[in-house]
Amino acid sequence: MNLIRIAIIAIVIWLLIRMVRGYRNRIRNSPSRKGDSIDTMVRCARCGLHVPKREAFRRGDRFYCCRRHADTDRSP
Ligand SMILES: [Zn+2]
Repeated sequence: MNLIRIAIIAIVIWLLIRMVRGYRNRIRNSPSRKGDSIDTMVRCARCGLHVPKREAFRRGDRFYCCRRHADTDRSP
């Protein structure tokens, strides 16, 4: 019973992650707004997601996809 419950929770989490990634991809692939040129893509130092430099969060010389990753990345 516990195994089934864990499996269901894992599937739900996986689906949520997929939804969030799909949502981010839609934002990234949406037509650029007026006046925007092609932006430099930077890689999140925590999860590896590529985000436009102007939308990335910066900590020192590292870039992150979101504030949470910028705050929780503890690697040197
Ligand atoms: Zn990230």
